[in-house]
Amino acid sequence: MSSPFWSRLVGGLTPYVPGEQPKGAGPDGRRLIKLNTNENPYGPSPKVITAIESVLNESLRLYPDPTAYDLRKTIAEYYRLTPDHVFVGNGSDEVLAFVFQALLAHEKPILFPDISYSFYPVYCALYGIDYRLIPLDEDLAIRVEDYTQAEQPSIGGIIFPNPNAPTGRLLSLVEIERIVAGQPDVVVVIDEAYIDFGGESAVALIDRFPNVLVTQSLSKSRSLAGLRVGLALGQPALIEALVRVKDSFNSYPLDRLALAGAKAAFEDEAYFAQTCARIIDAREALTKALVSRGFTVLPSGANFVFARHPKQGGEQLYLGLRQQGVMVRHFNKPRIAEFLRITVGTPEENQSLLAALDAVMGIAMSATN
Ligand SMILES: *Cc1c(COP(=O)(O)O)cnc(C)c1O
Repeated sequence: MSSPFWSRLVGGLTPYVPGEQPKGAGPDGRRLIKLNTNENPYGPSPKVITAIESVLNESLRLYPDPTAYDLRKTIAEYYRLTPDHVFVGNGSDEVLAFVFQALLAHEKPILFPDISYSFYPVYCALYGIDYRLIPLDEDLAIRVEDYTQAEQPSIGGIIFPNPNAPTGRLLSLVEIERIVAGQPDVVVVIDEAYIDFGGESAVALIDRFPNVLVTQSLSKSRSLAGLRVGLALGQPALIEALVRVKDSFNSYPLDRLALAGAKAAFEDEAYFAQTCARIIDAREALTKALVSRGFTVLPSGANFVFARHPKQGGEQLYLGLRQQGVMVRHFNKPRIAEFLRITVGTPEENQSLLAALDAVMGIAMSATN
């Protein structure tokens, strides 16, 4: 579709397509097993629900705090920073949109991996930012040297997720520091949407490096994809850039419910630690079970695994699983078309996935016999 009423910018956009959110039940009316968008299989902390309920009253008549000060203070305490090192927004996707506009839109191209979060090129198109794709190595890992050796005067910034998406591969803090230290003249953004599943956060570098910005999300490790809260952490000059964009766009990106719920999520450290540990255990068990079925599974530091089978096509497996009522994610893109990205569910959900895979592969094998 197009229309003469559209601006030139809108006509040229190719928007990001999020993973499917099913409206009803699966085939045969059974509940779908949803392992396609890296949501947390456990609910949020009960304290989050209580906190949200406590503001579900006539206070909703009033605008929320435009500076989100209480939430930023809680997050700052959690990371031993000060509130002026913390920015919050309506999901980390919104925070990233501000980051691209405020800190990555320069004359020179920015760098990110060829296989990475597919929202990055979408932001680049929206803001007219030039970019250069840096290929992952043959094991689909980020090669640190590709970023440290990029000629400094020719680049406008660097961004990548750690762990990377959709591969799940994690860089160590030492490797992240080499990139940040190696490119002191540009902002290096570490998108830590999945860092809580076993990685070491680059927040530890903020004190020493004015060019590092870390973004995080409450959607995965804190089970609040539906509340829409994300954050950025960095030295105050970087945070101020984000505030300037935000205050030129929407004074109140976080509503009263989100502010209360997000604060409670950061305060309930025990629940957070317990659910993350459960997911990490389930990830390791799922990896083993997939390997025993002949899959190659990339080492994952996230709440998903990226796996391929030497004999079964990625798209066929994806469609077969869907028929069995199990949703996973498949990217029809060069280098990764044979892979499935499978969100780690509860142990029961993971068992259902494996049973469905066995059924699909059994069917596929008998069809070729
Ligand atoms: C999920 C995800 C996000 C966005 O998270 P929201 O806070 O839900 O907007 C950002 N980056 C990566 C790599 C993600 O996987």
